[in-house]
Amino acid sequence: MAEPGINELLFRRARKYIPGGVNSPVRSFRAVGGAPVFIHRGEGPRIYGEDKREYIDYCCCWGSLILGHAHPRVIRDLARRLKSGTGFGTVTRIETELARAIHQAVPSIERVRLTSSGTEAVMSAIRLARAATSRDEIIKFDGAYHGHADYMLVRAGSGASTLGIPDSPGVPEGFARHTVVVPYNDLKSVRKIMKKRGEQISAIIVEPVAGNMGVVGPGPGFLSGLRKLCDHYRALLIFDEVITGFRVAYGGAQELFGVRPDLTCLGKIIGGGLPIGAYGGRRDLMELIAPLGSVYQAGTLAGNPLSVQAGLTTLAILQEEDPYERLALKTEEFCRSVEQSAARHGIGITVNRVGSIFSFFFTDREVTDQATARCQNSESFRRLFHALLTDGVYLSPSGFESNFISTVHRDQDLEKTLGTIEKTFKKWRKE
Ligand SMILES: *Cc1c(COP(=O)(O)O)cnc(C)c1O
Repeated sequence: MAEPGINELLFRRARKYIPGGVNSPVRSFRAVGGAPVFIHRGEGPRIYGEDKREYIDYCCCWGSLILGHAHPRVIRDLARRLKSGTGFGTVTRIETELARAIHQAVPSIERVRLTSSGTEAVMSAIRLARAATSRDEIIKFDGAYHGHADYMLVRAGSGASTLGIPDSPGVPEGFARHTVVVPYNDLKSVRKIMKKRGEQISAIIVEPVAGNMGVVGPGPGFLSGLRKLCDHYRALLIFDEVITGFRVAYGGAQELFGVRPDLTCLGKIIGGGLPIGAYGGRRDLMELIAPLGSVYQAGTLAGNPLSVQAGLTTLAILQEEDPYERLALKTEEFCRSVEQSAARHGIGITVNRVGSIFSFFFTDREVTDQATARCQNSESFRRLFHALLTDGVYLSPSGFESNFISTVHRDQDLEKTLGTIEKTFKKWRKE
């Protein structure tokens, strides 16, 4: 038996004190096997492990770090801010600056409230939607992740349009009962449900680009179809743009696809790598929130100056650099090369991408929803993941997660990654 490596040793120690050794389950490498890589530093597109190895990082803190790790300007501004203290639990000027930057980028967000996580943003938006419509039910899509609020941890039962059953023990059936789950991209099913129970539906919540079943973009007419149904039945349309906000365009997926939601949830990029979330939208709705209205929501660390500063600087750089076209082009080229490499070696793969988000599905089928995503060969993903890891490339550690290209991934980083993928596919064919 080989000596256990440093990652295995650190993981053993972590498991003594932390359930499963991790503070968020997918970090445990369950989906790909082996010990997770313990990281102590990041710079640009790279992360550096306790194992003294470096990795080109395509997880980028789950897409939060669109400028890469430790961007010099973000770090400089953060260091300055840090010297002034870590938080006051009361109002600061920079919160308004961030709110203004968000409003200017995403015009549908007339008013915005900051939270400490995306989960909280979604919880609060749903509470608001229920209060505003005096209805309890919500429609979500199978395989969509909206954080871990009880009533969001719901998957479809058998087939489309079953009423929600909880995905996790500890979620009372009564909490999940108000959540209706529909296959992503299946407008027909949504229409059917609206016809039957439109009067009870407070909101449809959707990731305008699904990023938590792997990447699945919206089919033609899907988002605008949801908009029309919501208008017809007086339900609210909530875009969960926690991943897509400031990622697929400066104005998010709503800019890219030209559909205006009533409420939007943000997170990840707007905190520049620090904990944050936000929800916002129509002024008349947002003014129902306390202290103006009676819908309660609060947070000790909401609007924390460090998170706000990291977000502000990140958005300022994104606005100056306007990297979106370049990022999309780079990602498109990269993904096409992976497909060509797979084709050369007779490997069935579908590479989905929207903007600078991509994921690999080992299947010949088109992947348009959770059911088709599930059909992929997860053993193939596992093998590719570890082949890349061994060669110093870090993908998100599950075939059902998204990968991200940042503004600081250079051509040679992508070429090196493609080289490893080509080598791996070639070896598979020989077997
Ligand atoms: C990450 C994510 C969330 C949850 O955000 P947290 O900050 O992890 O609570 C919600 N929705 C989507 C689409 C996400 O990707």
